[in-house]
Amino acid sequence: MEEHDVIVIGGGPAGYVAAIRAAQLGLKSAVVEREPQLGGTCLRVGCIPSKALLESSYKYHLACGELAQHGVNVGKVSLDLATMMKRKTDVVSALAKGIEALLAKNKVVRYAGTGRLAGPGRVAFTAHDGSTASLSAQRIVLAVGSKSVVLPGIEVDGRLIGTSTEALSLDAVPEHLVVIGGGYIGLELGSVWRRLGAQVTVLEYADRILMGIDAEIASDALALFRKQGLDIRLGIKVKSARVVGSGRGQLLDKAAAHRCLVECEGMEAIECDRVLAATGRRPATEDLGLDTVGISCDPRGFIAVDALFRTAAPGVYAIGDCIPGPMLAHKAEEDGVACIDGMQTGWAHVNYDLVPAVVFTHPEIAAVGKTEEQLVAAGTAFRKGIFPFRANGRARTINDVVGKVKVLADATTDSILGVHIIGPAAGDLIGEAAAAMNFGATAEDIARVCHAHPTLPEALKEAAMAVSGRAIHA
Ligand code: FAD
Repeated sequence: MEEHDVIVIGGGPAGYVAAIRAAQLGLKSAVVEREPQLGGTCLRVGCIPSKALLESSYKYHLACGELAQHGVNVGKVSLDLATMMKRKTDVVSALAKGIEALLAKNKVVRYAGTGRLAGPGRVAFTAHDGSTASLSAQRIVLAVGSKSVVLPGIEVDGRLIGTSTEALSLDAVPEHLVVIGGGYIGLELGSVWRRLGAQVTVLEYADRILMGIDAEIASDALALFRKQGLDIRLGIKVKSARVVGSGRGQLLDKAAAHRCLVECEGMEAIECDRVLAATGRRPATEDLGLDTVGISCDPRGFIAVDALFRTAAPGVYAIGDCIPGPMLAHKAEEDGVACIDGMQTGWAHVNYDLVPAVVFTHPEIAAVGKTEEQLVAAGTAFRKGIFPFRANGRARTINDVVGKVKVLADATTDSILGVHIIGPAAGDLIGEAAAAMNFGATAEDIARVCHAHPTLPEALKEAAMAVSGRAIHA
């Protein structure tokens, strides 16, 4: 039996980071990953491929029109989707190889195959070739991640009707893509295919998009996305989505086999050629042998842990998307480090109140801390400072003036309670806000920091100044 100090099941951002941290602390560390590539959902079918396509499709969009405003005429623009997809795949492969190299450098043992708990301190390993091995460790970390939720009635066939995984690899631009779900995944991937020429309809059950994002910012985003041609319909309950003619036993004719029908309550069914089901994710905690150590999941599949990531079973820990909290890669990485540090020192801390969230549409949307609605609901007295990008010099020079920065600060102490940005490079700008808030900064603190000119972060400074009514440029 192979023995380790720590075995991590799952090689995503939570798992591989935990395995490396364990090795850094001198532990004999191993990671079990069932996919050929390391990096998890994030690298293989999530953050990275979606951002690669968002970037490529945005460049195509610029070439199709906006570049001319800079005096750059590119002539007839054409789309080479195969090359775009290959670039995406190459980016993923390069990063996956990088993780392999990092594991090797840190002497983390990699088991390529599936891991399953097999009683206290035991992991049953099945390699890709079917061979099995018994592994043992004093500490086992579950980092098995999450998978797409598909609503009842949505008949995913992996071809015409798929999840984000399929929408990242279409071999042709759909004529009409229906996206079920107006969250960040649906809107990012909807944006990709809209920019590349598809008609895109987004069906959202709620009366707003981007649940969890500050309502004022989400409402600005809705108006902008609609202007970009995304047909976003709110308050829509989707009853079913299926390939036309399927489910009734009849043979499909060739044309019908390329069409889908999306049926919704109270409106006419929509016929389209592709459907993306983007209705959220749930922990992938089935078939993990949890019962062999006495762990049970909550009704949504999450594994409960304490502040040191300990599950109900001694020596078994859980991190990342499979435990409650924001399902985000950077949060998963924080869990990974804190879990291992906690094992060794008895102390670990992740500030879940300050996990930034970013939507990589154009404009980008980013947030950290409390939304305005949360502050109102909690009865917290706050002041709000807003600064529009149209008044920022850098935004003008890059021709990206849509959006604003919103800073919410405590009315008494001036402590920053939330920062919400819609605009150019919002995902990068939020880093300064997150750092400041982690250090307990006030709006005055950010206002007094000298920011380089002309830069986009000046908009954050001005929004912080606006909290006390003294923004200079607006
Ligand atoms: P995962 O990344 O899901 O990794 C878990 C790994 O465990 C997987 O590789 C799986 O194969 C493996 N595994 C599971 N069970 C076993 C087993 N029994 N044996 C062996 N291996 C096993 N987050 C962001 O922060 N920013 C983004 O921009 C972003 N974009 C996204 C876009 C899309 C389309 C999607 C789907 C997700 C996106 N996310 C984003 C979310 C992000 O991918 C996840 O939060 C993150 O991957 C969670 O990390 P994890 O390590 O907990 O789980």
